[in-house]
Order: sequence, then structure tokens, then C-alpha cells
Amino acid sequence: MFRFRHIPYIHFMKKATGFFAILMIFFLFAIASLNAQDSSTKKRIIMIGAHPDDCDLKGGGTAILLAQMGYAVKFVSVTNGDAGHQTMKGAALAKRRLAEAQEAGKRFGVSYDVLNNHDGQLLPTLEVRLQVIKKIREWNADVVIAPRPNDYHPDHRYTGVLVQDASYMVAVPNVAPETPALKKNPVFLYFQDGFQRPNPFRPDVAIDITSVFGKKIHALDAHESQVYEWLPWIGHFLEQVPQNKKERESWLAQTRSVKISTDVRTVLEKWYGKERADLVQQAEAFEICEYGSRPGDDELRKIFPMVTNIRN
Ligand SMILES: [Zn+2]
Repeated sequence: MFRFRHIPYIHFMKKATGFFAILMIFFLFAIASLNAQDSSTKKRIIMIGAHPDDCDLKGGGTAILLAQMGYAVKFVSVTNGDAGHQTMKGAALAKRRLAEAQEAGKRFGVSYDVLNNHDGQLLPTLEVRLQVIKKIREWNADVVIAPRPNDYHPDHRYTGVLVQDASYMVAVPNVAPETPALKKNPVFLYFQDGFQRPNPFRPDVAIDITSVFGKKIHALDAHESQVYEWLPWIGHFLEQVPQNKKERESWLAQTRSVKISTDVRTVLEKWYGKERADLVQQAEAFEICEYGSRPGDDELRKIFPMVTNIRN
């Protein structure tokens, strides 16, 4: 009688199949554990600004560097920007600015959400606070970056207040219960600003963005209605904007180059060491908010692994 199981070749195949199955399971476990490691080391960052270009200007270079390392980065604009232009307004302007924000998001390598609240009319209401809580929770954010509540623009100021008001509530399950509360309170940081009263910005960490400054400018260039039209108009330098598209971007780089303050230079030295810090031409700095979880230097280094100083 012919019986398959007595043929040596079939025996070999059975053994080999078993061996490969075990090998496959081993690989699947290895990949799963690598992914788990990834998700614990690669942070989820959400930057929240008042207008569709605020996060870009204050944190765009840092966002590019984080996104390049595989971090998940989202920008949120709390208003739709429908007041920021000298000739356009309302729904048409909001639509244009949403398209600009989405293009900028692509260039930065981040996702970009624009909330449909009117520009120039933002108030720190419960309704908008719940919108902000929802965005932070949905992103499962480890880090939230927003303006300080000191600013010339009421929308910037109230965005600062709204994020502060959300900072504890994101972990409270009974608030906005339709979106699950965060298991741990994120780190909250402030964007840099130059306002002195009631207290000046105090940088805790500064990021060298020199290598990606050109990329940042290219992403800002997507906000045409702002960087080439509205901001030059309200700032009385509209006649300086070049007409030629290529010249525009190098003009933008010149006008958006920020001089590094003594305070920020000192913080750069702390994180990068003096030698490297002296070479930094463009930087973005952040201050730790007293609310949310308070990171030490080790945690800050995990959030911003591009800071390389081995002395600390
Ligand atoms: Zn703004």
C-alpha cells in the first residue's frame, strides 16, 4: 500500500514547515515588540495656535525635526482665520486659509486641523475648551505646545488660556465623556514670545533649527495670504514683497530670521554644549508650563532627542 507519511521527503517537509512556522512566530513577536518600543519612545506632539500659521511660525522648525524622527506631530488652529486679510473675509477667506494650512502641513510633515471658530472673536468659553480637550485627547498627546496667555492679540491670549484650562481636564473622565480621558497628563510647553509683562518668557529648552530653516520657510511660503499679503499690509511693508515667486521665498527667509536672545543662547549651551551652540543660527525655544506633568531634563531629552549634549 502506498502511504505518503512513509516517504522521507514528506517527513522532511513536515519538519521544515514546523520549523518555519516557529521562525515566523518568533519574527512576528520581534516586530510587535519593536513596535511597542517605538510607540513608547516616539512621542505624540500637538501644537495649538490661534490662527492657521501660528504654530508654523513658532514651532515649525522643531516640528520638521520631530516629524523626520518619526514622531507624530499635529498642528491645530483654534480659529479659521476668517478675519486675517485686507480685501478678503468670511467663508471665502476661511476656505483659502484651510487650503494653505493643509499645504503647509504637507511641507512640514505634520497633520493640520483648523477649528471653525471666527478669527478675531475668540473667547475662552466652555464650548471652545471642550473642543481643545477633545483635540488633545484624540491625538493621545504626550506633549502640548501653545502660546502663553500674555500677548497683544486676544485670540493668542485666549488660546493660551484655553489650553491652560484644558491641561488638567484632559485627564478627567467625567469632562467631555464621549472622548476617553488621557491616562496620563501630558507635558505642556509654551511657545517663545517677547512680552515682558507680567513676566517675561523664560526658556527651558531650545532647539537648533538651522539645518531645517530653509524647509520651515518653504512651508511658511504656503500661507500666501498671510506672509505675502496680510502681514506685510498690516505691518506697512507691503511694497517690499517681491512679485517673483522665487525671490519671495528668499525675502521671506530674511524677514523671518529671528535673532537669538542671550537667554536662548544660554539654554542652547546647556543642551548642546558651547561649541555647537555657538554655531546655531536659528532656534526655537520653549518654556515648561506649571500645569500638566512637569518634565525633568531626562524627560525633556526624550521629547527632544535632537539635543545632543553629553555633559547633561
Ligand atoms: Zn496669530
